[in-house]
Amino acid sequence: MLDVDKIRADFPILKREVNGKPLVYLDNGASAQKPQAVIDAVTRAYSEEYANVHRGLHTLSNIATEKFEAVRGTVARFLGVSDESQIVLNSGTTEGINMVAYGWAMPRMEPGDEILLSVMEHHANIVPWHFLRERQGVKLTWVDTDAAGWLDPQKVIDAIGPRTKLIAITQLSNVLGTKVDVKAICDAARARGVAVLVDGSQGAVHMPVDLDEMGCDFYAITGHKLYGPSASGAIFVRGERFEEMRPFMGGGDMIRDVSKDAVSYADPPMKFEAGTPGIVQAIGLGVALDYMMEVGVADIAAHEDRLRDYARARLDGLNWLHQQGTVADKAAIFSFTMDGAAHPHDISTILDKKGVAVRAGHHCAGPLMDHLGVSATCRASFAMYNTTAEVDTLVEALELCHEFFA
Ligand code: PLP
Repeated sequence: MLDVDKIRADFPILKREVNGKPLVYLDNGASAQKPQAVIDAVTRAYSEEYANVHRGLHTLSNIATEKFEAVRGTVARFLGVSDESQIVLNSGTTEGINMVAYGWAMPRMEPGDEILLSVMEHHANIVPWHFLRERQGVKLTWVDTDAAGWLDPQKVIDAIGPRTKLIAITQLSNVLGTKVDVKAICDAARARGVAVLVDGSQGAVHMPVDLDEMGCDFYAITGHKLYGPSASGAIFVRGERFEEMRPFMGGGDMIRDVSKDAVSYADPPMKFEAGTPGIVQAIGLGVALDYMMEVGVADIAAHEDRLRDYARARLDGLNWLHQQGTVADKAAIFSFTMDGAAHPHDISTILDKKGVAVRAGHHCAGPLMDHLGVSATCRASFAMYNTTAEVDTLVEALELCHEFFA
């Protein structure tokens, strides 16, 4: 069982106050805080071991290259991928999905071809597909959730048609906390020759992931939600999809040979890593994933499940609070609105006065907001370092907020 006091001691920012109150950080869905091990690794990389990677023949470049390249193996271990050459290191999910859109989907799709999406997708897994709709007449087909926010995998499978080329789907909703049975979708899609891209931005944070078992074609993660630096991340690409994919960006590091008349490319994954990468960000990501694996991803998930159950019981007691996403087996992510005049932005401002950090807005999920019939929600999203006492602080702050607007 996870020792939450010990974990909290590893995150220096949790000791600070906000507006004279102890910080209660519940905006983890947007970005998580960093353990000292990550902060130290970033500092060490800049103060003792910094140089550009891959092209140097001097000591510092060799150290930086070794540390950077080791992250590929760490990401592969974290995601349950047996072959680390299927991991492309990048700046996060947005870059990963755009790489697939430009490099794999655009050259392969004809007008009338279809991409299947769930209504719960983040804009990072919507807008790149709108580019294909706008530019080459690809059709976007949407699958809705039920009233509780559950996505029936069979509905996705039934929506696969003869022109479906790709299913682009989240493993876990950043707004509702709903988990999606992506394995069932991958199994059915493979049998029909349809590729699946899984947005793992939230899923990889809150549940153990085994991509060899899941069987998706692409799986994108973003480091800053995984307790690592911002602008770090990775995408898993199943080997045979590499063969079908063109480089998305051109530049140094991704080539074999360049002349005035021709260019040839490095083998994957380097072929898809143009330019100087986020060297220190990647090193920090590797340390963050090692930290999660040391704590234990199953233990983190179990702790967050306990927080979810406790938070749900407390929030269910507030009959003026309207929760969006009430599936039993969801992650500890709670979206809500409140009776009365309180706009989510006002709620979040008042909570901040009590030291409670939550997010308010559309959460980059426009189609889901339309589906829910709201323009914005407040979202409290939990992480491994949160406690049931912090749930109580959230509830007290919400009660004050409700009294204020009553
Ligand atoms: N997908 C989901 C489900 C997210 O929650 C986020 C971040 O909020 C993203 C994609 C985009 O991640 P990034 O901005 O780090 O690329």
